[in-house]
Amino acid sequence: MTLDLAGVEEALRGVTARFDRRYWLDCTTKQEFPRELWEALTKADLLGVGVPERYGGVGGGIAEAVALMEGLGRAGMPCYSYVLLNICRELILRHGSEEQREEHLPSSVRGERTFAFAITEPDAGTNTFAITTTARPHGDHWLVRGQKTFISAADTADVMIVTCRTPESNDRREGFALVLVDPSDPRIEKQPLNIAVPSPERQFSIFFDDVRGTVIGDAREAFRYLWTVLNPERLLSAATQVGIGDHVLARAVDYAKHRAPFGTAIGQYQAIQHRLAHAYATLESARLMTRTAAQTFDRTGGAGAESNVAKLLASEASVEACEIALQVHGGSGFDADTDIITLWPLARLSKVAPVNNEMILSYLGEHILGLPKSY
Ligand SMILES: Cc1cc2nc3c(=O)[nH]c(=O)nc-3n(C[C@H](O)[C@H](O)[C@H](O)COP(=O)(O)OP(=O)(O)OC[C@H]3O[C@@H](n4cnc5c(N)ncnc54)[C@H](O)[C@@H]3O)c2cc1C
Repeated sequence: MTLDLAGVEEALRGVTARFDRRYWLDCTTKQEFPRELWEALTKADLLGVGVPERYGGVGGGIAEAVALMEGLGRAGMPCYSYVLLNICRELILRHGSEEQREEHLPSSVRGERTFAFAITEPDAGTNTFAITTTARPHGDHWLVRGQKTFISAADTADVMIVTCRTPESNDRREGFALVLVDPSDPRIEKQPLNIAVPSPERQFSIFFDDVRGTVIGDAREAFRYLWTVLNPERLLSAATQVGIGDHVLARAVDYAKHRAPFGTAIGQYQAIQHRLAHAYATLESARLMTRTAAQTFDRTGGAGAESNVAKLLASEASVEACEIALQVHGGSGFDADTDIITLWPLARLSKVAPVNNEMILSYLGEHILGLPKSY
């Protein structure tokens, strides 16, 4: 069976009718993987999006995954585990061996396998070229040694893809390896970080002490492999932000219709109404750009410019929506129980991760406008 875009949207409506922001906040408070939501997504065939039928999936591409993330965000459930699932599976599907596909894809469609994706290192930060975690061949497997940080869902994931350098990496772009490891391996040490972005997923610093793993594809090609999922990651991040923006704006509009400290609903004042309308317009342009970029990616496999613009606009749109929602809610916006201030860190994070907006602008300046490289 396959699911087209309309089928994904319909199936998702069935899921979000049963799970909402309260469920998500409950998982966040308990710091628990959203297991019941994951099971509902599985039953609705939505974990099969992006996976061909021969591996148990329902087909589709990034456009369908974008629709899914936008819808989950709109329901107040910005499920980063789904982004991780999608990009890790893309790597395995596009570049892994047949054995790796058989091992990881059908089980992930059945909801039995989740992923973490480890690139960031404490010293290298944004500069992936400067990573120092190594992978070296050892018999029929590879050994990973080094350190990563800010790695989401490392405690709950069943599989982790680690971006490494190989011993002979003296070229800037060559000598990368993408290694599949078991996050529960005793030679991995995980230290939880105190990240103030309310979410069921936690982040960790991770130490690898000669951890066994298998390499995806040809290690010499790993940098190119990585590049094939960066635009999808940006688009899924953009879709999440558009959905979150929709969610918080709808709540701000609702509040503005009823709150009347001077006897008139504050939504009638142009000072408020125009800001709400502007946030709406900004979200619509980000939505259009994200959906168009996703379709272009599915059609061409490229869409670098479109994906970067979408990520930039969506991060700005969701922050704008959170800002006016906070303003409209007055003091109550800062009460965590009202759950407006709790949405702001996630929106704001999107200007920094998965890639900061300065890097996005540098990409556009250099690759689209033809200006000199700035860093
Ligand atoms: C909640 C959360 C979840 C995360 N999950 C993951 C994960 O699952 N896996 C993973 O690998 N990583 C993850 N990250 C890491 C995230 O992707 C990085 O924080 C991000 O890429 C930036 O790296 P850095 O924090 O080291 O910032 P730095 O590289 O130190 O940059 C700091 C700031 O400097 C500026 N800057 C940097 N470079 C340039 C430049 N060339 N030009 C202009 N300005 C620049 C930007 O404003 C940037 O925000 C997560 C982070 C957070 C907070």
